[in-house]
Amino acid sequence: MTKLSKSAYMKGEQCQRLLWFADRKQLPEVSLADQHKFDQGHDFEKYVYLLFPKAVDLSGTRGKENIEKTQEAIKKKKTIFEAGVQFEDLFVRSDIFEPVGDNWNLYEIKSTTQVKKQHIPDLAFQKYVLEKAGFKINKCFVLFLNKEYVKKGKIKAKELVSKEDVTEQVELIDDIEGNAQKYLETIKDDCEPPITITVNCNKPYPCPLKEHCWGTLPTNNVLHLTNWRQYWNFFHQGIVDIKDIPKETELKPKDEVIRKAVNKCQVVYSKEHIKHFMNTLKWPLYHFDFETFDTAVPIYDKSRPYQKIPFQYSLHIQHEDGKLEHFEYLADGTKDPRLKLLEQLKGEIEGNGSVVVFNKSFEIMVLTKLAEDFPEHAEWVNKVLGRIVDLAVPFQNFHYYCPTQKGRYSIKKVLPAITGKGYDNLEINNGGDASIMYFNSHIKNNEEVHNKLRQDLLNYCGLDTEGMVWIVDELKKLIK
Ligand code: SF4
Repeated sequence: MTKLSKSAYMKGEQCQRLLWFADRKQLPEVSLADQHKFDQGHDFEKYVYLLFPKAVDLSGTRGKENIEKTQEAIKKKKTIFEAGVQFEDLFVRSDIFEPVGDNWNLYEIKSTTQVKKQHIPDLAFQKYVLEKAGFKINKCFVLFLNKEYVKKGKIKAKELVSKEDVTEQVELIDDIEGNAQKYLETIKDDCEPPITITVNCNKPYPCPLKEHCWGTLPTNNVLHLTNWRQYWNFFHQGIVDIKDIPKETELKPKDEVIRKAVNKCQVVYSKEHIKHFMNTLKWPLYHFDFETFDTAVPIYDKSRPYQKIPFQYSLHIQHEDGKLEHFEYLADGTKDPRLKLLEQLKGEIEGNGSVVVFNKSFEIMVLTKLAEDFPEHAEWVNKVLGRIVDLAVPFQNFHYYCPTQKGRYSIKKVLPAITGKGYDNLEINNGGDASIMYFNSHIKNNEEVHNKLRQDLLNYCGLDTEGMVWIVDELKKLIK
């Protein structure tokens, strides 16, 4: 019999095509980032469980066994972890099901730092199925991470876990029955649902089928434009290629740059604006980049849920006469890397030159937290913060744009566009993978780390800052 589970229902809420592929187990392999997310969720769950010491834990059971053991625990009026209940062709496994007199409370565990919109239909589907199965639901709660929690010694579950009553929001959802039937039909259908690319491809989660569905779009499509309201309008009107946008249609200034570059098939830049940016640089330039990892449950004292913990940096000092120096740090072992990293960095960022980063909000956030957690270094960190210049600015403002950037201005797009060099030949070629590979090898598994992996990490972070040196060189040539 076809069954619709809670996770299938939620996939249907995002997109029926995603549901169809997921039901046939035809989704791409889980990415390193997604696996890390799941692992973090499981870690958090362990601390939530500590708050219900008398509960029956059914997380190790599956299918029929899970449903039968749930029934036994229900008869004994026990709180249950992973309570499995089926009503006709609908099935739920609820994170926590707790008796309250003759009624029941329903808890959903989410390893986020706030209640999110998508948590509500998740609980609404569970409530619907449980009520159809004869249970009276008293309250619905989301249990999530307290973002203000700062670890000091052993984790205190009571302080780590936040609880919000969302019963009212859940009760406002009244389309469960219709949706569930619709999603069951989708699963049963032998034909793949037609492509319906929408804003939902990224909401609430980036869809794992994006490459499959978006791969058929023209090279320069309207989804590269920055004004998303306008580009979805174009898309729904059947205008998919940027070249097909009617000439008389007015676009926002940044999108005009994109259209001009695509139509002329060449780079578009503003000498005047780039000159203005270059004049803000104070030599020598300290090109700087952090790599960080984060965990739902903090593992070091003086850190919070999902705080970015820097474990590596690369620093290229570019002098006006062309001289280049390189410094780097890559932590080793399982201990908190922050203090050692800070101390080394302090000896290397000297003088008064600009500290050049690419997309400053990230480096500013990490440095600000370092100053907060290690106040003895706050004065130095604050001086560095005052010297930061964001090399992404000319690209964010579309004062330089090459059609190969496809509407983006990350260093991964800008570097190849402006220098012809990129990350393709590296073993590790993105920050997300670098972070998780470091975390898994050095912290989670504490395995004997291969020199090769450490070298790959150094190569990756080193290219980020060397790439910034090359970008500055190219900008200099443009304004000559
Ligand atoms: S990429 Fe978009 S259209 Fe394709 S399955 Fe995912 S959400 Fe649906």
